[in-house]
Amino acid sequence: MENNTQFNEHNKQEYPPMHTAEHLLNATMVKMFNCGRAVSAHVERKKSKCDYELPQELTQEQILAVEEQVNRVISMCLPVTEEVITIEEAKQKFDTSRLPEGVSATIRVINIGDYDSCPCLGSHVKNTSEIGKFKIISSGNTPSGFRIRFKLEE
Ligand SMILES: [Zn+2]
Repeated sequence: MENNTQFNEHNKQEYPPMHTAEHLLNATMVKMFNCGRAVSAHVERKKSKCDYELPQELTQEQILAVEEQVNRVISMCLPVTEEVITIEEAKQKFDTSRLPEGVSATIRVINIGDYDSCPCLGSHVKNTSEIGKFKIISSGNTPSGFRIRFKLEE
């Protein structure tokens, strides 16, 4: 793992269920609104926030749709698996613009069923069924993007 490259969107010491939920939220935002993954994120056990570059704020209906979709994926009990691929493969599959130059020949990719695939060295649950219920607390524009604050419930 030391050979791999730190290449992710989250802080260290994350709580695996919360961090895995962050992957699902990112994937859902990309699929629903064609935006990128979070431009910045702060993930903690109790609550987390992710900021997205969006052309406009999401409506309350859209926020509810995001929450529903993430919970739908969680309830599909998808396996969370890792694979190691070469940098060359990664460049074809992912936006590697945030990848530091020349650090390593391989990177670790986390797959959540076939819903999400993302280079990451964080800690994850083994199955989305371990995440719990995903709840969006609040959302709104901030200087660093459209912020979604969320938590997990039992
Ligand atoms: Zn991760």
